[in-house]
Amino acid sequence: MVARLPRHRMIPRHYLGVPLREFGPYLRAPFTRADEPDRQLAEFEALWAERLPQQRVVPTPLGRHALWYFIDAAGLQPGDEVLVAAYNYYVVVRLLVQKGLVPVFVDVDPETSCMDPEDLARKIGPRSRMVLVTHMFGHPADLDAIEPLCREHELLLFEDCAHAIGTTIAGQQVGDRGDGALFSFGIWKIVGTFGGGMLALRPELHAKLAPAPHAGGRMQTISSIGSRAALAHLMRPGLYGWCVEPILQVAWFLAERGRTSLRDLIAPSKDNEQWRFDEHERSPYRPFMTAMLAAQLDRIDAQVEQRRAAVEGLEQRLASLPGVRSLNRDRHGHSNGAYLGLWVPNPEALADELANAGVGANPHEFFDCSRLAQFSEFAATCPQAAEVCDHVIRMPSYAALRPTDLDFITQVIAEHLATSAHGSAA
Ligand SMILES: *Cc1c(COP(=O)(O)O)cnc(C)c1O
Repeated sequence: MVARLPRHRMIPRHYLGVPLREFGPYLRAPFTRADEPDRQLAEFEALWAERLPQQRVVPTPLGRHALWYFIDAAGLQPGDEVLVAAYNYYVVVRLLVQKGLVPVFVDVDPETSCMDPEDLARKIGPRSRMVLVTHMFGHPADLDAIEPLCREHELLLFEDCAHAIGTTIAGQQVGDRGDGALFSFGIWKIVGTFGGGMLALRPELHAKLAPAPHAGGRMQTISSIGSRAALAHLMRPGLYGWCVEPILQVAWFLAERGRTSLRDLIAPSKDNEQWRFDEHERSPYRPFMTAMLAAQLDRIDAQVEQRRAAVEGLEQRLASLPGVRSLNRDRHGHSNGAYLGLWVPNPEALADELANAGVGANPHEFFDCSRLAQFSEFAATCPQAAEVCDHVIRMPSYAALRPTDLDFITQVIAEHLATSAHGSAA
């Protein structure tokens, strides 16, 4: 049995890596008047001009709003089919359904966890209008195969880049090739401003964009963004074990006894059948976010190298263990190391052991949406997505992970695999 880490060494599942001094623009925001919208928009656009040279960019309240607005700008109609990878964030699929669109689930490549172009080719039909491709975990999807299919069949291409700032194909930031792309600046993503997101899209579609003005006052900014700012800070290694981990313990204890409200607050379910998108539920994009973004984008290349080093460090340590293998991050480009997904026999059991040892990990970050009860109307069989859903666990992979952390995680995984193999042999 591996000893539990002392609190000051506990390992969160994610750490945004924004130092407290960079919280300044947020902390000052309630006291500054935001009255130069044109200059603020120009500053935001300038951040992306070199990264996404073919696109116009629009800041949005959250990443998901980008898809919502794009569907209108592109003129998609109820009943139109959207081809979407089955292994996905259910919120994305829910948005499509809420707009009256028909999700057609496409299987994934088990090596990358991204959409499989061969299955895509099989599923394109007369009602298909759009392909929604996700650079899942920050792994570049196979756009060299998917983009020509879209052109051939006159389908819109939309890239979900929620995990993929810093992910490149042939040296180009992903999100530039699609007709539109979604980016998220939530606290669980690679670049975070406590909320906020972005729609990138072709200039001709940008001209058709008419999002409704966003409601939401100063109090909403203070509470909805403030709670996320606090959590982003408390997830910091060193604080996490004292501040967040004990609350998680209580939350799971209660959830196991049927009282799930605390767990739903700090570790929301990734399959909530009741959830519906509400355009105005969260704070609008705020000008302070641009200053925070600028600081993080300045160091994104170094961050990506550190994340990749952490991911590679763990993979090397695990290489000799039977029963665990990693995904192929760079199969179609250069991954940003945003998320580390590992194939293991039993993700739930491993997550429990990691949690007992003081390491955060999520056995169900995403689901095979083609099997979820909430999408039963659109059910499909996607065997590879089902496998990824049942066997891939998301491990910590932030830039600040140290070699001793990686050693410890390796030890927990090794012992878990040894005891579970022993148990099943007996
Ligand atoms: C987080 C996420 C989104 C949406 O981002 P929000 O900013 O939370 O709206 C979309 N797709 C994927 C795959 C995500 O992980």
